[in-house]
Amino acid sequence: MRIALVGNQNSGKTTLFNLLTGSNQKVGNWPGVTIERKIGTLKGSDVEVVDLPGIYSLSPYTAEEEVSRHFVFEEKPDLIVNIIDATSLERSLYLTTQLLELDVKVVIALNMTDMLLKKGLTVDVQKLSERLHTTVVEISALKRTGIDALIKTLVEGPVLDNPHQAIFSKEVEQEIALLHEHIETPHERFVAVKLLENDPMFLGLKPIEAKDAIQRLETHFGLDMEQTIASQRYDFITEVKQYAVVAKPVAPSMTDRLDKIILNKYLALPIFGVIMFLVYFLSVGLVGSWTVDLISGSVESLSTWFGGLLETWGASAWAVSLVTNGIIAGVGAVLNFIPQLFILFLCISILETTGYMSRIAFFLDRL
Ligand code: GDP
Ligand code: MG
Repeated sequence: MRIALVGNQNSGKTTLFNLLTGSNQKVGNWPGVTIERKIGTLKGSDVEVVDLPGIYSLSPYTAEEEVSRHFVFEEKPDLIVNIIDATSLERSLYLTTQLLELDVKVVIALNMTDMLLKKGLTVDVQKLSERLHTTVVEISALKRTGIDALIKTLVEGPVLDNPHQAIFSKEVEQEIALLHEHIETPHERFVAVKLLENDPMFLGLKPIEAKDAIQRLETHFGLDMEQTIASQRYDFITEVKQYAVVAKPVAPSMTDRLDKIILNKYLALPIFGVIMFLVYFLSVGLVGSWTVDLISGSVESLSTWFGGLLETWGASAWAVSLVTNGIIAGVGAVLNFIPQLFILFLCISILETTGYMSRIAFFLDRL
């Protein structure tokens, strides 16, 4: 048995892959491209797990999409684990709707569930599973929760099959049904949709019927078919999200509240002026000049004291002058600036590390 791990970039695929396979991994490249290929075996079984490159759709726009699409088409895994980021369902489900069109079983691993609370989101797994017609397992690859339940589902297979439910408008679904009769390859529904989208990979097997269907639909919707299909996918996703996700407003963070004040349309510039004045006041102004006085005072006393000492040792007038007016006064003149510079750079680093600099730079950009 072979399982393919499919998901967006940064959805946690590699983290999950490592949890599922432990140290039983082989790392190489996909043939012909420098995209990492990782294969391992599911802990405690002989099930093979393949980590596919991170993708956002099964269109052939990028090398990663090509590799993933080729794999699910040609090497036909027995099961796809679609790992999705629970905190951004909208983006993740676009790929999911495409995977569900394939003739391969799909289990959905709803990852990042540890972040939901923080973002004020609740996802009803039961409802999500009901609308997507397949098993959804809640996990956190980072916190290692739900992994045993996921492994159990993988070994036993999803509870609900995916019966290629209709997700597009009835006009589009009608044409898909008609095209079905003319397609002899596996993944019929997926291919039918791709034909309607004018996908170049399927141009070779494009029957004349597809051309007619596209024409009818483009006249009906007044858009090119790729746009129509994409926008209807998003309509479906929006509906699923409304059904399964509850969003509670979270209290604005301290950063949000501060931003509201310091980036306020009217207050931002006066506040910026006050801050710049403070920096000047501390480094060059009153505080700065106080440090200058302090240092030059100390240097002067040192010079007087040391000059006196040299005289008692019987040094000549020019030697005393060389040391006091030359060396001590010279070094002192440079030392004068050091506290000022120290204060100035301290202020600048505070403004930079707090993020104020980048915010105000952005704000002043137009000006
Ligand atoms: P990939 O690009 O899909 O392979 O994603 P990675 O496995 O490299 O994970 C991307 C980032 O998401 C890493 O910083 C992970 O630590 C983090 N991550 C993965 N799973 C979770 C999770 O369940 N919760 C949280 N909070 N972070 C996660
Ligand atoms: Mg990865």
